[in-house]
Amino acid sequence: MSNPTKSIPLNIAIIGGGSAGMTLATKLDTLSATVFEPKTAAERDCSWALWAQPKQLEKLSHAIKGSWDQWRLIDHNREIIHQSKQYRYTSLSSGQYLQHCEANLKGRVNLVRAPVESVVRDGRGGQFNAGGQNYSAKTIYDSRPPIVDNNSLRQHFVGWEISTKEPIDNADIATLMDFRVDQSRGLHFIYVLPYSDRHLLVESTMISTQLEDKDWYRNAITQWLLERNIQVQSKLSEEYGVIPMVPVQPQNAGIACIGAASGAVRLSSGYGFSAIQTQMAVLAESIAAGKYSVSTPFSQRLVFMDKVFNRALNTQSDHGVGLFMATAKTLNADQFARFMLANAGVGEWLKVVLAMPKWVFIKSALKQFFNYD
Ligand SMILES: Cc1cc2nc3c(=O)[nH]c(=O)nc-3n(C[C@H](O)[C@H](O)[C@H](O)COP(=O)(O)OP(=O)(O)OC[C@H]3O[C@@H](n4cnc5c(N)ncnc54)[C@H](O)[C@@H]3O)c2cc1C
Repeated sequence: MSNPTKSIPLNIAIIGGGSAGMTLATKLDTLSATVFEPKTAAERDCSWALWAQPKQLEKLSHAIKGSWDQWRLIDHNREIIHQSKQYRYTSLSSGQYLQHCEANLKGRVNLVRAPVESVVRDGRGGQFNAGGQNYSAKTIYDSRPPIVDNNSLRQHFVGWEISTKEPIDNADIATLMDFRVDQSRGLHFIYVLPYSDRHLLVESTMISTQLEDKDWYRNAITQWLLERNIQVQSKLSEEYGVIPMVPVQPQNAGIACIGAASGAVRLSSGYGFSAIQTQMAVLAESIAAGKYSVSTPFSQRLVFMDKVFNRALNTQSDHGVGLFMATAKTLNADQFARFMLANAGVGEWLKVVLAMPKWVFIKSALKQFFNYD
């Protein structure tokens, strides 16, 4: 029988086995490590999307639900369609991704299915409890979801995976943002991933400071389907998510954070998968070289620009529609993918800045620069 007062010594403890924690765990092959995660992969299944190039598509093939070389943004005035030669907008099953990671853990890496509590820092490691057992780790990486202020700008959504009675139109195009919906409560759009001509993910997504009742998003999805005469055969699943669009607070100050808790989710878009992949690859290499610090996921310039963008979004929702449509219009498909992946060059940034509604953007930039409201 285990003695709960005696600490089990660990080399590396990874708190949270989500996108960051499990990705890091699969990359550790020379050192021992333990991942602590209370939920099964199936319990956390949702869609994680990214712009992927052929090599990455091959690596992620076990988890791909759908992949498109065309994507579009639509408002009441226009439809912008991008077709890319280099990138495919790709939706992964997070459950399958995480399951694959679990199946590929190397011999010295374990998974403990329990939540971590009472973390006390000690150097770059510390002590904590999980499943009634005390642990003492030389190094801790914490990926528990960060603390988010209730009134802060967030992206929040409900998505339905559905099958339809009839085949739908345009099943070869992913709709990233359809703004032809109620904008009265904040920036609102419908996101549609056609996995086939009879199988879709349809999400009602809001960017605002106040979360809505879940029925609000459900009604928006129903209305959108109704207006397009898309009849639901069956509702296969529902997902709900809230993604912060402001800098986040870690659960335990002083403990090294990875993933979303370290700011690896892009403030202006809510995309984090690709930045987390890079952050974890760099960290695993550093650890193998005896260095344990976590790299910052995005440059200061990018974080500043994202904050400027969000300030403009937050002032009036119709600014938001204009900002997203202008970005998509001024960039071609490959540039847009690089921009969303946080890999845009100076030329691409310049195009985006010049395409912005001038006064809104200048005002936001000045306010962000002097940091006042
Ligand atoms: C619903 C949703 C959809 C998203 N879709 C996309 C997308 O399409 N594309 C994209 O790029 N980004 C997306 N994101 C943003 C981001 O990529 C994800 O949030 C990503 O999962 C972040 O990875 P992470 O490892 O930091 O956090 P998570 O993957 O959330 O992992 C954190 C883990 O910590 C565990 N945990 C919580 N408490 C404890 C505890 N006490 N002890 C131990 N473990 C604990 C949780 O169970 C969880 O598994 C999405 C976010 C959400 C919420």
